[in-house]
Amino acid sequence: MIKYTSISSIQEFLVKEKRRGKTVGFVPTMGFLHEGHLTLAQQARRENDIVVMSIFVNPLQFGPNEDFESYPRNPERDAELARSAGVDVLFLPEADEMYSGSSIKMHVTERTDVLCGSKREGHFDGVVTVVSKLFNIVGPDNAYFGLKDAQQVAVIEGLVNDLNFPVNIVRVPTVREDDGLAKSSRNVYLSELERMEAPVLNKSLQDAERLIREGEADPGRIISFIQDRISAETSGTIDYIEIYSYPELTAIDKLQGEFIIALAVKFDKARLIDNIIIKAAQEEIHHV
Ligand code: AMP
Repeated sequence: MIKYTSISSIQEFLVKEKRRGKTVGFVPTMGFLHEGHLTLAQQARRENDIVVMSIFVNPLQFGPNEDFESYPRNPERDAELARSAGVDVLFLPEADEMYSGSSIKMHVTERTDVLCGSKREGHFDGVVTVVSKLFNIVGPDNAYFGLKDAQQVAVIEGLVNDLNFPVNIVRVPTVREDDGLAKSSRNVYLSELERMEAPVLNKSLQDAERLIREGEADPGRIISFIQDRISAETSGTIDYIEIYSYPELTAIDKLQGEFIIALAVKFDKARLIDNIIIKAAQEEIHHV
């Protein structure tokens, strides 16, 4: 595995490899790697000649009162894990390297007025800025994104479509702990009690899906059901529980077609998100 911190060096290397006909799979991350990230890398390994992973805690996507400073970091351990997952090239730029100029500002106008977008002002502007830069630096054929951050996937698909990036976006299902908790770098900030409570987020989504499968079609009743479960069974504070069409993220008044139930819950030192995407065809409902 080769490590790069400079944009020109990694670009030079990858341009040469692509001229030789190699395909490139790309996994952008903020590091503190866990099995979720590694699943993305392993899938990239199977589907491409060269696998590039970036580790960059992007200051632009954090709000002033968010956890940029305290975001967990462990570059040595990350490098070992990336290597073991089959990553060929690890890109670890410093913020100065990534943001040397400031003549362009990107602003996302769709799919961001709901869910995390409405709670984290400027977050997705920061995400599309860094992802655009990384796509230009790496020039991937395939880029892998986790559906744990389903709104991010929807926004990136909009970005790629609007700006004609020649890259295929691969949606990867959420990787979970045995008890159903979505793997996240932020899970380390849960107290012992909160860690025991946290699987209720996923359980309530699973139970909601069961209710929908049994015929419940009213979004409001599903939201109340999840709200009651999480309030009764965790010490967290609900940030949002919302249902939209997916990936358009527009309001729906009946649970049909492809839709997402997404939630965010604030615990003492960690804000957790989770979601379920359901595709409802007349009689049949199944996971994506
Ligand atoms: P992050 O380092 O949190 O920015 O995540 C980097 C990538 O890994 C994003 O595409 C995430 O959606 C994805 N990811 C993070 N956690 C998981 C998970 N539990 N399952 C699947 N993908 C994940």
